[in-house]
Amino acid sequence: MKLHEYQSKDLLSRFGVPVADGDVTSDPSEVKAIAERLGGNVVVKAQVLMGGRGKAGGVKLFTDADEASAFAKDLIGKKLVSIQNPAGMVVEKVLVTKTIDIAEEYYLSVLLDRSLQQVVVMISKEGGMDIEEVAEHNPDAIIKLPVDPAWGLSDFEVRQAVKDAKIPKVAQNQMVAMIKKLVKAYIETDADLIEINPCALTPENVLIAADAKVAIDDNALFRYSDFNETSSDAADDPIEAEAIKRGIAYVRLGGEIGIMANGAGLTMQSLDEINAAGGRPANFLDVGGGAKADRVKSCVEVILMDPNVKGLFINIFGGITRVDEVAKGVLQALDELDVKIPIVARIEGTAVAEGRKILEGSRVQSAATVKEAAAKIVELTR
Ligand code: GDP
Ligand code: MN
Repeated sequence: MKLHEYQSKDLLSRFGVPVADGDVTSDPSEVKAIAERLGGNVVVKAQVLMGGRGKAGGVKLFTDADEASAFAKDLIGKKLVSIQNPAGMVVEKVLVTKTIDIAEEYYLSVLLDRSLQQVVVMISKEGGMDIEEVAEHNPDAIIKLPVDPAWGLSDFEVRQAVKDAKIPKVAQNQMVAMIKKLVKAYIETDADLIEINPCALTPENVLIAADAKVAIDDNALFRYSDFNETSSDAADDPIEAEAIKRGIAYVRLGGEIGIMANGAGLTMQSLDEINAAGGRPANFLDVGGGAKADRVKSCVEVILMDPNVKGLFINIFGGITRVDEVAKGVLQALDELDVKIPIVARIEGTAVAEGRKILEGSRVQSAATVKEAAAKIVELTR
């Protein structure tokens, strides 16, 4: 889960990473007081989970609290669109921070390098801009330092990497210290990614994180009840966001046949069979193990939120899950939603006889095999 900049900075400052003083708010009338408290020289920053906020007009510097406040009033509630996120995101909160006097901008990140199968620190003198651009046009300007899983990082390695990245001498000690803090934070918070861009050097030669991006491994979220509110706005798609809120594994795919299956394997098989039969899956949705009627109903609702869905394909093998519960949930959803699209179900396993009985006479057609069911729903949606 991606954290907002303000949350990322909170988290990192607990590990001793220097950040500018500031405050977050969703109330535009509070911005003036915050800006005054900080002395009037402030940056107002849209808190949206997308890259390129600066270029999108979501980051602006002010020398006057009233102007900062006017800008924030305009910004909150507005949709920001960037190259990285053409669909755009609505600004709900702004972070107001003391303006850092920036002489140079560097890039620092800690992330998992899947090809190296190691955590890697990336350092570049070319900060502030898109690191992807640097990687493309000036790849030598990015130094990668793998973190040994058993030994961690030695001081001399970090120092050498910082020198290799051609960070000026006056900033080297501070950067070595910052990298060690970032790696500690990365490990201890179960992060997937920590990125500081820009890592600013002031004219007084002080190194400070001017921006921060932290993403936490979703499997560690139970440790972070305070961040859960952001997980749903982390999804770019509104239906995916709703699915996250409901705790449903759902990925929107863009086709016209909605898929509801249990277990990732059966769900993948469903996608394959729909494709093989000449259809296009609208989504990946795994009902999960042991689902009761309520959850099944909630899953059907999520699938049908996608207006592209012209048919529903149900592929359930009851193990822990009882097929009669699935049937009940499907019928409850159909009752409430006034569904007109065709539905084909292939159901097997625990309580299948009861399940079939429940579906008898409903608009849910059954099929004996997955292949047959896929062919049928593809034909019915044509
Ligand atoms: P991003 O565009 O979403 O990555 O947002 P950033 O927080 O990185 O801000 C974009 C740009 O605004 C930075 O690259 C800086 O050039 C500038 N900026 C942000 N904060 C400050 C600040 O405190 N002082 C100065 N002088 N510039 C800043
Ligand atoms: Mn940035």
